[in-house]
Amino acid sequence: MSGLTVISGPTAVGKGTVVRYLIEHFDDVHLSVSATTRAPRPGETDGVDYYFLSHEEFELLIETGQMLEYATVHGKNFYGTPRQPVETAIADGKHVILEIDIQGARQVKAARPETKTIFIAPPTWDDLVERLKGRGTESVEEQEIRLATARVELEAQSEFDHVVINDEVARCAREVLELMQA
Ligand code: 5GP
Repeated sequence: MSGLTVISGPTAVGKGTVVRYLIEHFDDVHLSVSATTRAPRPGETDGVDYYFLSHEEFELLIETGQMLEYATVHGKNFYGTPRQPVETAIADGKHVILEIDIQGARQVKAARPETKTIFIAPPTWDDLVERLKGRGTESVEEQEIRLATARVELEAQSEFDHVVINDEVARCAREVLELMQA
């Protein structure tokens, strides 16, 4: 199994948990580490969760063509996928997952039409709101910004090759894996 899969979905839908499950349970799945200009959250490690960069460092990577895709997410910070590690992993026969927003998903699909794009959706809108509030990592103001982005993202789900509902992590991960292998 090798190739490229993009996984997108609204804030707090549990994409990260599904992706972690895939990496832990299946060989040859490689998760791309994104770069971002946002500050690390408690417990996040540079080079593991993200490459945490300054705006200047990020802009240099864009200008020198080192980003496979990038976007401004939630209206403030840059997020993007460094190109080289993705190409190296695919050349090594791995299946690479990009966990990115819908703007990035569109860019990757346009540049590499063979990419599989999968949208992870919540069972219901209320479920998403509860998960976001329940995780308690964002201020109320930040939650409002994320929910506004989530509404726009849910409207874009029909652009994706597949939509998978995250009703239960293991089930959702298995469905994603089957789509990756198909
Ligand atoms: P967070 O700040 O919660 O880690 O991530 C916020 C959003 O940024 C998530 O919806 C995630 O999908 C998106 N994101 C993370 N990495 C990338 C990336 O490399 N490119 C793009 N376009 N979006 C990303």
